[in-house]
Amino acid sequence: MSQNVAIGVDIGGTNIRAAVVNGNGAVEMKMKEATGSSPIETVLNLVDSLYSEYSQRICGIGIAVAGIIDRDEGVVVMSPNIQGLTGKNLKSEIGSRHKTCIVVENDANAAAYGEKFAGAGRDYKNFVILTLGTGIGSGIVINNRLLPVAAEAGHISINAGGKPCVCGNVGCLESYASATAIIGNAVSEIEKGCSSILRDYHNGNFYKIDAEDIYKAALEGDPLSRTVVREAGKNLGIGIASLINLLSPDAVILTGGLLGAWNIYVEAAIQEASKRAIKELYSKVKIIPSVLGDNAGIVGAAKLVFDECKICVD
Ligand SMILES: [Zn+2]
Repeated sequence: MSQNVAIGVDIGGTNIRAAVVNGNGAVEMKMKEATGSSPIETVLNLVDSLYSEYSQRICGIGIAVAGIIDRDEGVVVMSPNIQGLTGKNLKSEIGSRHKTCIVVENDANAAAYGEKFAGAGRDYKNFVILTLGTGIGSGIVINNRLLPVAAEAGHISINAGGKPCVCGNVGCLESYASATAIIGNAVSEIEKGCSSILRDYHNGNFYKIDAEDIYKAALEGDPLSRTVVREAGKNLGIGIASLINLLSPDAVILTGGLLGAWNIYVEAAIQEASKRAIKELYSKVKIIPSVLGDNAGIVGAAKLVFDECKICVD
């Protein structure tokens, strides 16, 4: 068993997670802070704390970031949901404090590689992961390797016209199937006067409802909530059908808070994908939940360090 460990960091829109991960993919020590307005400072502080415990054994730092990444340079090309990261060179910012090997990757790509290394993707040579939350991210593993591409499946067009998206396009998958889409649709139906138990949540301030409120109401049988969650699932299925046709994966792995509504949201997606995808390709694909959950990004980021940093050889 390897004595070397790597630090995996996952910078998301809400939280930054950092952990020490060993050569078997197990998380040995994990910390979490709110992302806030100075994410790089927060990352440096978390990394400092982990270094103070593990200094002799750390062979590199892997950083997963929600955004478009130039992985050769270690630059965050675009990160619309994290303040102050766009244009930053994480390799040099973090490398100036810690003289070690640093790898930067997109968060959903890192999550895909984490699941390949130690989670739901272990037994699959070819798969795609979809991270279902505020937005929709994805990562692709082909022939057991992480594809070094953007893999922005959330921005596949599923509607020729349609709703505007944060990316500047209209009709993107994430505008129809994400938590944000579910909340937007529920609130707009309530504004129109549709009856729902959601009206009573948050002391009647239905503008405060979140996706969890809605899928819990759906699971309790609230008709409006069931409709919006099912509709989002159906749209997710349209996107999944395209991914199956494009990549002929062995598995589609799903992760994120919305999986709490598996029986409605994911079942609707599976039903829609089965109708739309090419039958011969659909028949060999498994649609399954992630095993690592929130840890997938940090484990994948650490695995990239083990792969790419020469000092990680025992
Ligand atoms: Zn988009």
